[in-house]
Amino acid sequence: ISFAELKLAEPILRAIDAKGYTTASPIQQKAIPFIMAGKNVMAAAQTGTGKTAGFTLPILHKLLTSNKSTKQAGNQVRCLILTPTRELAAQVADNVATYAQFTKIKSVVVFGGVKINPQMQKLRGGADILIATPGRLLDLYQQNALKFDDLEVLVLDEADRMLDMGFVRDIEKIVKLLPAQRQNLLFSATFSADIRQLAKQVIGPATEVSV
Ligand code: AMP
Repeated sequence: ISFAELKLAEPILRAIDAKGYTTASPIQQKAIPFIMAGKNVMAAAQTGTGKTAGFTLPILHKLLTSNKSTKQAGNQVRCLILTPTRELAAQVADNVATYAQFTKIKSVVVFGGVKINPQMQKLRGGADILIATPGRLLDLYQQNALKFDDLEVLVLDEADRMLDMGFVRDIEKIVKLLPAQRQNLLFSATFSADIRQLAKQVIGPATEVSV
């Protein structure tokens, strides 16, 4: 099916068009309607399936249509996307920027291994979408560079790799900082027992989709 049939907002459709995508991939067809309906979603999808657009497009739609805006409120974040590595964070951020190019949605990416000060500065006006690795996110929070009062969506991308890399404690700490009322999305290559345990803890009951 086409992206227009998924009823995504016009500026998002324009960006998809500019990318040259004609039809939604299987994971996109399955996940996007549930995400747009505000459900918590647990999706089994490998890299290469179009999973990044699978969560980014409906999140952009939600942020565009929910009429809340954080631009005025300093340091507030509306959507937090956690990734296991800085490479993936940068890659997801590139995707988000491309899909958001015809909107006013502001995205920021932060990860460890580089100076924290420029990242604190970038966060000063807030961010509609923040893409982050867990450790650096906690550092920035401790430095008062982040506020989550307006947070609407949490995404755990490549959750299986985050567990493999030992980020479970960091994720638990981060989730405690977020408003209880929020939409949660978890993407993972597999649904192992550990992933199910994390999902139970972090997102609660969720709609499962897989390809
Ligand atoms: P991902 O699984 O998110 O890493 O995406 C894999 C690749 O598929 C990326 O290069 C995307 O630009 C591309 N892609 C995502 N969705 C579509 C689509 N619906 N049609 C064609 N290519 C796509």
